Amino acid sequence: MRRLADVLEDWEAVIGLEVHTALTTLETKMFCGCRLSHDDEPNANVCPICLGMPGALPVPNEKAIESIVMAGLATNCEVMRRSMFYRKHYFYPDMAKNFQTTQGPVAFVMHGHLDLEVSGEGACERLSATVDKRPDGSYVAPIRILRIHMEEDAAKMNHLGGAEGRIGGASESLIDYNRCGTPLIELVTEPDLRTPEEARLFMEKLRQTFLALGISDCSMEKGSMRCDGNVSLRRRGDTHFGTKTELKNLNSYKSLHDALAYEICRQAEVLEEGGAVRQETRHWEPSRRRTVVMRVKETADDYRFFPDPDLAPFDLSDEFIERCRARMPELPDARRDRYMTTWGLRRLDAEKLVADPATASFFEAVAAQVEPSVMPTLVNVMVNLVPAFAALSEAQVASVSGLLAEDALTFAQAREVFELVDGTDADPVRVVDERGMRQSTDADALGAIVDEVLKRCESQAQQYHDGNKKVIGFLVGQCMRASKGSGNPKMFNQLLVRRLEA
Ligand SMILES: [Zn+2]
Repeated sequence: MRRLADVLEDWEAVIGLEVHTALTTLETKMFCGCRLSHDDEPNANVCPICLGMPGALPVPNEKAIESIVMAGLATNCEVMRRSMFYRKHYFYPDMAKNFQTTQGPVAFVMHGHLDLEVSGEGACERLSATVDKRPDGSYVAPIRILRIHMEEDAAKMNHLGGAEGRIGGASESLIDYNRCGTPLIELVTEPDLRTPEEARLFMEKLRQTFLALGISDCSMEKGSMRCDGNVSLRRRGDTHFGTKTELKNLNSYKSLHDALAYEICRQAEVLEEGGAVRQETRHWEPSRRRTVVMRVKETADDYRFFPDPDLAPFDLSDEFIERCRARMPELPDARRDRYMTTWGLRRLDAEKLVADPATASFFEAVAAQVEPSVMPTLVNVMVNLVPAFAALSEAQVASVSGLLAEDALTFAQAREVFELVDGTDADPVRVVDERGMRQSTDADALGAIVDEVLKRCESQAQQYHDGNKKVIGFLVGQCMRASKGSGNPKMFNQLLVRRLEA
């Protein structure tokens, strides 16, 4: 197969995503009062409603509807005043009532967009032709969202032997209904994405947004955020759509990217050999790095969709919508912009810090503890050191940033101090003093060492004067050795240059 970059020279990929997010932060299920916890003993959290007993009546979870409205507001969607729940019928043991409660043509929220923004070197190549350039040098591509609707999750099945997903024959399956009835929101994009990289950026942005809203733990690993993709190709310049395939099992950013890349190249090969792409559902196999056919769609599935007679249509009031709006937290883009204006952070640093709300809150808490002059050092520490550690406290990060800012530590030493205090309540200042790590910034003492080194290293000093400025590294090393590592290399560098240039 040809490489993706080559294929995309001739072909345009048209990609749409469907993202399911389980509202894991709620306390109860979508239509009953059962506890929402997937980790409990199997079938501990069940009742006649989520087991689909005849006559049991569902009661919608208001908090779940607040969550979906907030997801809609965060993605610039229109909140639909009236929508309904529908029944989607199918037979499979993971849904005891034989239908999934979902939504029909009108969802709770519809017609929005999520803007992909990138900046920095090579940024523009990461987005497709829908890109706009902004005055600040960043690029933006709005990806339209068709709808976000509410539905319920099915039970978890554990297939013991036999062909996966097949009941009967020699295989047996275990069913855990704890997950059944978990509120899920399904977001469907318009086919506006053009590259696997854009799809990955979209998923990252969506995850950051939902994390900020606090509506889900958004764990792709645990399956609380799952993504399907569909992709078709057309010749560059064409406006009609080609036949698309649906991709399943895209359960990490990498799988999403790699499966789309593989599928684009596979379809290009089929088309270039004069064949036709079949409309089918394909499964991504990460270990073999390929997609394989799951099923071929010959006719539309007959789900016998109809409005659920047990659930009255929803009329969302202005008051309800305003209450959701009032609960909206600061979203990642706004937070990034605030960091840039309040503390003068570089855009890339601000983006990294806001990507995870817990990191951003941690950063803000530390920022409140340090002097303004320490802020640039703190940002550097937050971006380049802190992510490698599991359990540093705000006070420890503030303290080490302060020591770095006053040149009492080198960056390598700061890492060492973090290694020593991570997960403990030890005070970094004490650790530094006890171990004699504090670097001298006493200009007189360091100046004496510099003088002595320059006397010993006359030939290197001459090389410096002859234009070999790199020799300064050697001289700093000599000073560090003479001070037994206690001198600050930045100070040595400054003192050496000052004397050599004098
Ligand atoms: Zn229940």
